[in-house]
Amino acid sequence: MVRGYLNVLRCLGMFLPAVNLHVMEVQYGIAHLTRFGYIALEEGWNKGSQVMLKLPFSTMDTAVLNPVFKTIIRALLRLYPEIQQHLVRIQETQIAAICKTNSDNIKQYLNQLQKLDYLVYLPRQDKLFLTFLKPRADGDIWDWPQALYENRKTQQYQRLCNMMLYLNEQHRCLQQYLLQLFSAPADTSCGNCMHCKRNAHIQLVKSIVIKQFELNKTQNFKYLREQLDVELEMYLPEYIQQLLASEYIKIVNAEGPLENLTFVLQRPWH
Ligand SMILES: [Zn+2]
Repeated sequence: MVRGYLNVLRCLGMFLPAVNLHVMEVQYGIAHLTRFGYIALEEGWNKGSQVMLKLPFSTMDTAVLNPVFKTIIRALLRLYPEIQQHLVRIQETQIAAICKTNSDNIKQYLNQLQKLDYLVYLPRQDKLFLTFLKPRADGDIWDWPQALYENRKTQQYQRLCNMMLYLNEQHRCLQQYLLQLFSAPADTSCGNCMHCKRNAHIQLVKSIVIKQFELNKTQNFKYLREQLDVELEMYLPEYIQQLLASEYIKIVNAEGPLENLTFVLQRPWH
C-alpha cells in the first residue's frame, strides 16, 4: 500500500511543475477525482506478472516438443507449485536464472506459449495509467461557490445515510426498499434478494415443521432437522424459538441442548 502510494507520488512528480501545486495536494486531488468518477487509476500497474498453466500434467511431456518450452514449463512448475490451479505471481528474472537466459527472452517465450494456448500470461504493467472517464469539461465548472459545495456535501451525506439504512434493513425486500427510495411503485417483493430468499426459506421450514406436528404431536429437534434440506437447517432453531415463545409448543423433557429436546404441540395452528 505504502509502496503503491510512493510510486503514485513519484509518477506525479513528472507533471507537478506544470500544475504548480504541492505533491500532497495533487495526490489528494487525484484521490478525489477518482472517488467522484472523473478518472480511473489502473490498479494492476504495481503488481507483478501472472501466469496459469492450462496444460494437463499428464500430457506435458508428449504435447510440448520444443525443448526450450519444456525447460520453461518445468521451471514454472518447480518455482510455483500452484501454477496449474490458479493465476500466480511470477518473476521473469527467476525463471530466466533457471533457464540460463534473460528475462526479455522469457517474456517472449511466455507470449509464444500463450499463443499455443499452453498457459495464460498477464505481463506486469510497469506504468501508471490514468484514464479520463468523462468528456473534457470547461475550466469554470471546477470553481464551485461555497453554497454549492455545502449543498453537495449535504446530498452526499444523505446518500450515505440512505446506504446505511439499506445495509441495516433486516426484513424488507431490498429491491422494494430501493424502489421506494426513488419514489417508484413497489408493490411486490422481488423474490431474488437476500431477504426474499431468506423469507422463502423460513416459509418452507414453517410448512415442513407444521406438517410434522400435524402427523405427530410430539417431535424431537433432531428428527425435525433431518426433515430439512441442508440450506434450511439453519432457520430451524429460530423458528422453534418462535413456536416456544408463542406457546404453540412446549418442551417435554428436561432442559438441555436444542439437539436433545422433545416438543409437544399445545394448541391448534391458526
Ligand atoms: Zn427481494
